[in-house]
Amino acid sequence: MATARKPLVAGNWKLNKTVSEAVETVDALKPLVSGVSNVDVVVCPVYTALYSAAQAAAGSNVEVGAQNGYTKESGAFTGEVSPQLIKDTGCTWVILGHSERREYFTESDAFLNEKLHFALSAGLKVMFCIGETLEEREGGKMDDVLTRQVTEGLKGLTEDQFANVAIAYEPVWAIGTGVTATPDQAESAHLFVRGLVRDQFGDAVADGLRIQYGGSAKPDNAAELISQPNVDGFLVGGAALQADSFAAIVNAVSAHG
Ligand code: PEP
Repeated sequence: MATARKPLVAGNWKLNKTVSEAVETVDALKPLVSGVSNVDVVVCPVYTALYSAAQAAAGSNVEVGAQNGYTKESGAFTGEVSPQLIKDTGCTWVILGHSERREYFTESDAFLNEKLHFALSAGLKVMFCIGETLEEREGGKMDDVLTRQVTEGLKGLTEDQFANVAIAYEPVWAIGTGVTATPDQAESAHLFVRGLVRDQFGDAVADGLRIQYGGSAKPDNAAELISQPNVDGFLVGGAALQADSFAAIVNAVSAHG
């Protein structure tokens, strides 16, 4: 059933940009998206640039998010950053479960579930990433992988908490590869994920949940992807590093209405 879901377009800058580069990009982005009120727009710099980027974005329609967050507020956890401290920088969002975190930092579904609950309790909104590898897809394991990531990752969330959660479906084979899922592939995966959420959390949650697509989203494929009924925005890596290409994606989504 068609439900009005406000699209969410976020840029994951990964390990890129100094403080001044992050501020410059936010400053360049603001006028390019200032007329957009029907899309939520977020950029996610490295930790060191969060405060400055949030200051630069203040008063605009651009929100700032972190790319990760820990499961403790404070204490002897060298090198970690808590959701409370992320919020203190002026950020409103955090990305959790990105495939690079799952793969390079061996973050498990259970650990990500803990992170998700803790970030929500700190008052952050969460983009929770899921997605299968090429090997899993080609080996016929895609549905099992997505089922496990949704079931374990979102375990214990209440209907109210879902107001502050978006899922980013990011097939790992499409991330940073230049290979984009076809609109049909994206739509069928999003439909499957929404079905899992429907089975586990009910119609209201499933119909309201924003599911972003991530994986080589670009200005020239955004319009076609966003026209799919279950694609509710994007999580963008490479094409989000430049203000003009990221704004072109935001504007393509906005034009779709
Ligand atoms: C990402 O890292 O979340 C991502 C989607 O990257 P890219 O757009 O570069 O594929």
